[in-house]
Amino acid sequence: MINTLQSTGLKLSLAQQIFSVNIAKLIMYANEMGYGITFGEAFRTQYQQDYYVQKGLSKTKNSLHLNRLAIDLNIFINGKYTEDNFYYKVLGNFWESINKLNQAGSLWNWDNNHFEMHFIE
Ligand SMILES: [Zn+2]
Repeated sequence: MINTLQSTGLKLSLAQQIFSVNIAKLIMYANEMGYGITFGEAFRTQYQQDYYVQKGLSKTKNSLHLNRLAIDLNIFINGKYTEDNFYYKVLGNFWESINKLNQAGSLWNWDNNHFEMHFIE
């Protein structure tokens, strides 16, 4: 089931600010776990999103990247980039524990790098 804050009246701008603070917490948690983190994409334009869908790189035209509520993070273990789902799930579990609207791509078993706040206005 997908949770939203529609009924609470939370505004997009406030949701974006909560998301940013929670990403900071996620990065600090990764740091405590000894994981190195670099940024992938955060904000994305509709033009970019449409291009990704056209190229088969995304499955939706309504990505939360369009609303500044998603970010892709890269994990480095011992200085080396990893695609190992194990590490992304560790962060994904933490991510989903700090806000009920948070969802991690690693827990969908695709889109490992993706972390989002599933707020829809
Ligand atoms: Zn993403």
